[in-house]
Amino acid sequence: MNGPVPVEVLKQHLIDPEICIRCNTCEETCPVDAITHDENNYVVRADTCNGCMACISPCPTGAIDSWREVIKAEAYSLEDQFGWDELPSQNDSLAGLAGAVAGIGEAGKSGTESVSDAPALGGSDMVRGSVVPPWSAAKPYVNLYNHKAPIQATVVGNYRLTDTSAESDIHHIVLDFGKLPFPVLEGQSIGILPPGTTQDGRAHHARQYSIASPRDGERPGYNNLALTVKRVTHDHQGREAGGVCSNYLCDLQKGDVVNVMGPFGGTFLMPNHPDSHLLMICTGTGAAPMRAMTEYRRRRRLKGATGKLMLFFGARTQGELPYFGPLLNLPKDFIDTNLAFSRTPGQAKRYVQDAMRERAADVAALLRHDDTFVYVCGLKGMEDGVLQSLQVIAADAGLDWSALWQRLKTEGRLHLETY
Ligand code: NAP
Repeated sequence: MNGPVPVEVLKQHLIDPEICIRCNTCEETCPVDAITHDENNYVVRADTCNGCMACISPCPTGAIDSWREVIKAEAYSLEDQFGWDELPSQNDSLAGLAGAVAGIGEAGKSGTESVSDAPALGGSDMVRGSVVPPWSAAKPYVNLYNHKAPIQATVVGNYRLTDTSAESDIHHIVLDFGKLPFPVLEGQSIGILPPGTTQDGRAHHARQYSIASPRDGERPGYNNLALTVKRVTHDHQGREAGGVCSNYLCDLQKGDVVNVMGPFGGTFLMPNHPDSHLLMICTGTGAAPMRAMTEYRRRRRLKGATGKLMLFFGARTQGELPYFGPLLNLPKDFIDTNLAFSRTPGQAKRYVQDAMRERAADVAALLRHDDTFVYVCGLKGMEDGVLQSLQVIAADAGLDWSALWQRLKTEGRLHLETY
């Protein structure tokens, strides 16, 4: 006689729509295309997700690390997930059952084990950068405020950074948190909740911006931070389109109050040991975290930090390079700055990776050093080019790049943040 047919219970991977800031990192990271999105939500295909966990650590907010145990035949569909404003609650009668019945455990995790306790290690082949912070990084606070309970910050400064003749309108915006706690570290980001609603009446999602100032404040000893924001006037296809949040931010006046979420990010952090070297490569507004780290080291240098700083910074023209003046004022023995301009009239296009190759011997010397930490931030397209340059530079210097790359990842020494 046949026994009862076991009910298959699935630990279904979901994304928390309340925390998700729709930054697309998970969709780009997923090696099996299990993640997709619509206007409303980022969602996971239950029949495609293989639980590889590649998406977990890169997510800046932790929204990706959401799981519900469901009867497999009743797994939440994409349509269900697109319609959510919040995650459904866990059916208590199923909790802990995934994996307890043969043939289940789709997420590649055994039964009742908490999947969030098992992050992918820095050495995963599917992840190109570190998913662990430097060993000496300070411990970050994350997700102190969400979209239901944001913190209010007051605008205390809003300055245009780029020439008025430049096409890019990039702003340096300073937000002050008064007496409310908002502890941050260089390399972390925050979410800004723009006011108003989308065409279908939903509140706008938060947009993520890197913090451009050091942990002890844009002004040392003050509870404030800076952002570097480029006014978006065109979409990726070049059609006119005003960015909701960037225009809101760039138009803010002193005294305006802004709703903020975060802080986010627990890996793109700087080492705290004073003899560590920073190799920083960025384009455009991707300079924000590099400014934060550089300024922190500049302040700390006065207290004895000795590590080297090398910066490769790309922009269309000199006039479009945020922080151009202050950058050039930094002492040469403090930071080795290399600029690459791609659209200077009468000159050949030059990208950061070209500048890196020109300085190959010095980059290689840094790569040889066990205390060098590499940071890449800016346009998505630069990531391949920069990694290829590092590979060529390492190979020409007789270094085994694939072994070094693996080690950099595992040791929290290669951090990529590109959009
Ligand atoms: P941008 O002005 O469009 O470009 C900056 C420079 O990068 C230009 O010289 C550009 O050259 C060059 N570039 C284009 N493709 C490249 C490639 N494949 N390799 C190397 N260089 C390349 O930059 P942006 O508009 O400021 O964008 C910066 C990016 O940083 C955005 O994607 C933004 O989301 C991201 N980001 C911003 C923040 C923030 O807090 N605001 C933080 C992290 C990251 P061309 O002349 O060819 O265009």
